[in-house]
Amino acid sequence: MSRFWSPRVKELTPYVPGEQPKLKDLVKLNTNEHPLGPSPKVLEAIRAEAGDNLRLYPDPNGDVLKAKLADYHGVSTKQVFLGNGSDEVLAHIFFGLFQHGKPVLFPDITYSFYPVYCGIYHIEAQAIPVAEDFSIRPEDYTGDCGGIIFPNPNAPSGRALALSGVERIVAGNPDVVVVIDEAYVDFGAESAIKLVDRYPNLLVTQTLSKSRSLAGLRVGFAVGHEDLIEALERVKNSFNSYPLDRLALVGAVAAYDDEDYFRHATDYVIRERQRVTAGLERLGFDVVPSAANFVLARHPGHAGADLAAALRERSIIVRHFNKPRIEDHLRITIGSEAQNDALLGALPDIV
Ligand SMILES: *Cc1c(COP(=O)(O)O)cnc(C)c1O
Repeated sequence: MSRFWSPRVKELTPYVPGEQPKLKDLVKLNTNEHPLGPSPKVLEAIRAEAGDNLRLYPDPNGDVLKAKLADYHGVSTKQVFLGNGSDEVLAHIFFGLFQHGKPVLFPDITYSFYPVYCGIYHIEAQAIPVAEDFSIRPEDYTGDCGGIIFPNPNAPSGRALALSGVERIVAGNPDVVVVIDEAYVDFGAESAIKLVDRYPNLLVTQTLSKSRSLAGLRVGFAVGHEDLIEALERVKNSFNSYPLDRLALVGAVAAYDDEDYFRHATDYVIRERQRVTAGLERLGFDVVPSAANFVLARHPGHAGADLAAALRERSIIVRHFNKPRIEDHLRITIGSEAQNDALLGALPDIV
């Protein structure tokens, strides 16, 4: 704390990202990165772009990438907003669409960045408890509010809500923006993008960080009615005109040009998820059914913090949240076959 800080900075409670340890040889299953690298075509495109033209600013609008995403998702380019990772997109959403002097609703067990955005923009947060089995109950999202947001599949539970449930929430709250954060949608849920033309209050965000193996490139986007997108463009152009650099723009386009690789890489994770789930259950864990690239699991005989610490001693890093309802759970990213073997090999000794 310093006397030079703006008063509001003193009140901030920043998000704490999963650790990125400098040590090599760790089995890193804590931040939901993809176990396979990006498509070779992405790397090729980035290499080709890495030249003298880096002296020039990138396209502030990212028109080529917008056209690619619009085409891929069957919408117009005016319905697409780009950001430096979907976290940045979400920040602009909270600023641009959620500041109405009313609480914003999201599940109690969910992405812990949402309350942080509420904090920085002085938005009241209202947590809606998920069911005992961690599922989101659409009927709970009613009443006067300033907006609604939840991930589908939800994180860190991994549970997916059927599109009919998503639609019920969107249709039931026509006077506020409902944001579906689809960071993990490619691993097993149905995208709400197909509903955006029917609901002017629906905004869907996605990221290239998870299913496209590009967490290091920082590309995310939102799709929705062009009036919602225009609000986000106004915020973005009042903050940073060039959120996506040249390498990110060409790399992202190349990722959508390699559908075969995308299928192969997502199938790999889904297959390994089934194997990890079965392996954990054999060891006595309760595993929440996951539609994402991670599983949330607890062992009835052990505290979550103890399990995480014991794994860490064996150089395996998973995510533990010191938070009511999930303090005895571990969120385990689905890794490579070898990493998952290491996890399943280490656990019998611990439990
Ligand atoms: C990972 C994640 C994001 C953010 O991803 P970016 O890397 O910033 O694109 C957003 N929402 C949820 C639920 C996530 O898990």
